[in-house]
Amino acid sequence: MNVNFSPEELVFQDEVRAFFAEEYPQDILEGRRKSMLASRDIYIRGQQALHTKGWAGINWPVEYGGTGWSVTQKYIFFNEFAAADCPTIIPFGLGMVGPVIYTYGTEEQKEKFLPDILSSSVWWCQGYSEPGAGSDLASLKTRADLDGDEYVINGTKTWTTLAQHADWIFILARTNSDVARKQEGISFLLVKMDAPGITVTPIYTLDGDHEINQVFFDNVRIPADQLIGEEGKGWTYGKFLLTHERANIAGVALSKQRLRKLKKKLASYEQQGQAPADVESFRRKMAEVEIQLSALEYTELRTLASVSTGKAPGPESSILKIKGTEMQQAIDNLFFELSAYGALPNLRAQYEAGYDGDIVDDDGSSLTALRYFNFRKASIYGGSNEIQKNIIAKAVLRI
Ligand SMILES: Cc1cc2nc3c(=O)[nH]c(=O)nc-3n(C[C@H](O)[C@H](O)[C@H](O)COP(=O)(O)OP(=O)(O)OC[C@H]3O[C@@H](n4cnc5c(N)ncnc54)[C@H](O)[C@@H]3O)c2cc1C
Repeated sequence: MNVNFSPEELVFQDEVRAFFAEEYPQDILEGRRKSMLASRDIYIRGQQALHTKGWAGINWPVEYGGTGWSVTQKYIFFNEFAAADCPTIIPFGLGMVGPVIYTYGTEEQKEKFLPDILSSSVWWCQGYSEPGAGSDLASLKTRADLDGDEYVINGTKTWTTLAQHADWIFILARTNSDVARKQEGISFLLVKMDAPGITVTPIYTLDGDHEINQVFFDNVRIPADQLIGEEGKGWTYGKFLLTHERANIAGVALSKQRLRKLKKKLASYEQQGQAPADVESFRRKMAEVEIQLSALEYTELRTLASVSTGKAPGPESSILKIKGTEMQQAIDNLFFELSAYGALPNLRAQYEAGYDGDIVDDDGSSLTALRYFNFRKASIYGGSNEIQKNIIAKAVLRI
């Protein structure tokens, strides 16, 4: 896509490019070019480098330490971020609970939590889904019962991403069962992960990784002032958070970077005389993905433009979520097709041996297979794509 930047925006682009080339930890970028895997330390160091520069709160208001960037500046930043091969910004603090706290939290909660979220010195995870309550989230069974000035929490959360690293979890829990609609009586609570009664157990995914977990709450006591907003109104705050989550899942800049890598890979295969037999058909599929990605980029910019006027991203973020994750998976499919490596190496054993960046490389079968299997998740997390279609039908198309 061609965007005509103003002279100031071109200066900003140079500044961002120079930051990633000179100031950002280069070992992180080099490691990332070899492997999509990253440790807790790598994510934190990457985010802290952004914070040191004052660039951690990309979407946050200036009064809470945000960048105050325009839509175009954000667009420039994320394109440079992806082109430099930066590891993902873990969304649970900066992208999810941060906006909930500065929008609905008390002054004390803002003072207590926002600085640590901004500096990535505290790792958060998201406790929404439960066994039996995913798409139908309002059926959740975890309870939080007020006992004096504490809530007592009992229940199970599941699919909790990177909970094994987390210092805090934000949860939706039922505080009142005597309600007309099941969306009522749910509250949004902040819980410290080392509270007695919390147990985290791993769930291993198809690619062998330990990314997700179950989190059990057995009579966990938390101070009542860790409730966000009003008791029983958690559904409103939870939905606000989900629209932020979905708007950020599209990952257009990253898909563009992966498409560039795919083209490079095809070129290198052709040079070695190893191009697919029907290379023209492969090129056509790449072009189709590129056109769709370009259309998605305009949609993303429209949504960003509306967010920059102070609005929360609305149900339109479901469109970004569906199309963005479809694009991610379409590019993975093309990598897979080009590599013609169907075999999944023993990734579980490799994870257990501890990864050091050598087990995968950008042109190797391992990365292609690993990424292909890992990213089956993209059309499920953040609310499955089928559910996003229901939301669009109801809230956008008004069917
Ligand atoms: C890798 C990964 C990481 C995740 N991380 C987190 C996390 O950190 N925190 C968290 O809280 N959750 C997390 N999730 C959970 C995720 O949000 C849920 O998996 C998702 O909402 C679907 O819920 P479910 O798994 O219970 O599937 P179900 O709700 O049981 O759905 C099963 C299938 O039925 C379809 N379906 C269900 N209802 C309808 C309907 N009404 N119309 C049409 N189709 C329907 C769904 O689309 C899906 O294909 C994660 C999930 C994954 C895969």
